[in-house]
Amino acid sequence: MQTRTDLIEDLMARFPKVPPEAVIKEDLLRGGVAFDDSALTDNEDGEVKPKSYFIFSFDHRTLPELGTAALRRPPEEIVLTGGPYQLRRTVVSVRVNPQSPYRVQADADGMLRLTLDGRPIADVGLPPMPEYYRHKLANGKSVMEVAPTIQWGYLIYLTVFRVCQYFGAKEECQYCDINHNWRQHKAAGRPYTGVKPVDEVLEAMEIIDRYDTTGASHAYTLTGGSVTSKVDGLGEADFYGRYAKAIEERFPGRWIGKVVAQALPREDVQRFYDYGIRIYHPNYEVWDKRLFELYCPGKERYVGRELWHERILESAEVFGARNVIPNFVAGVEMAAPHGFTDVGEAIDSTTEGLEYFMSRGITPRFTTWCPEPTTPLGKSNPNGAPLEYHIRLLESYQATMERNGLTSPPGYGPPGAGNAVFSVSSFMDCLPAQSDTTVA
Ligand code: SF4
Repeated sequence: MQTRTDLIEDLMARFPKVPPEAVIKEDLLRGGVAFDDSALTDNEDGEVKPKSYFIFSFDHRTLPELGTAALRRPPEEIVLTGGPYQLRRTVVSVRVNPQSPYRVQADADGMLRLTLDGRPIADVGLPPMPEYYRHKLANGKSVMEVAPTIQWGYLIYLTVFRVCQYFGAKEECQYCDINHNWRQHKAAGRPYTGVKPVDEVLEAMEIIDRYDTTGASHAYTLTGGSVTSKVDGLGEADFYGRYAKAIEERFPGRWIGKVVAQALPREDVQRFYDYGIRIYHPNYEVWDKRLFELYCPGKERYVGRELWHERILESAEVFGARNVIPNFVAGVEMAAPHGFTDVGEAIDSTTEGLEYFMSRGITPRFTTWCPEPTTPLGKSNPNGAPLEYHIRLLESYQATMERNGLTSPPGYGPPGAGNAVFSVSSFMDCLPAQSDTTVA
């Protein structure tokens, strides 16, 4: 029987253009990792930066099923080096799965190692607790709750609206647990603010600015659920835009401002820009028409696929093509019951979407799908997509970028194996090394 070690070594051999670091990283992202108690954090009171649950749960079990990891949070990310594959520094977002064949545990020498099928395959580094997490807001809220940072401190992740107005089975994206994640944190008695007040966000940003002693933070993302009616009396562009306005007035140009939102009409997109946002993520989620309609019913209902794509192209006239970076969720193309069953067909479809945007100068990026257990697609596909799909996608992504003369998108930190900090997919690990690109 093929072990997981056999699987990754087979893929490393068959796809030499994809670095071995990315093969392991994709497998960890799609299938999760188990933690020995010795590798968990002391939450906000210890020396290791804990997992903030910055938007979705990104776990393979619900909180009550995580055992000790529900009480002592796992780290936000891990960094892998060395081992039999001589891994260069690889930052990986933590997705907990107690049943994973990957495990982080202390060796006999007390050093943390990543094991696969019981064999050590990498040294594990944990993110140090940033100084700014040790300071609270005046009202007692933590910086981790209001303005967590990810990507080894590069990105301040501002989920200012913790739920989505696409609600219920007929509207929620079928792989998304934002609404469930809100409920489970509330049920566990954790602080979890539904709509973050602008003042709190500003205060947390001030603390980060003051105590980011290593100068790691370079960008912020304003994000959360879709707004189909109003929040605080505001439509989507003004709701998310007001945070950027406040941040840019207080800290002009200190960080690159990004927003994840629906594909909005041009006048709303212009408002985002006027508020000071410089990168726009109108995420198209999955390329195939039938799968978009079935797996993103809210997006289909409120906007529709064709108009969504038209608006992505149109927004390039406002932001510049380089600064429109729509996300898709890599892997849901292969999710039962409606997804492709053949890896080659799924890759062909996804590549068609990449070519559509890249040939127009727009660089999509992707997040590796985590099949969270409370979502419809997580329930029917607990093991996610085949690893081969993820590896072939990386190869196709590299080739499509190269064919279209594009380089790594701005606002993601440095590209290249050993340099990348983007932690929720390996696309940055697979691009040629170059210095960080700034917003054009
Ligand atoms: S738009 Fe879809 S993916 Fe985004 S928060 Fe709403 S349900 Fe989730």
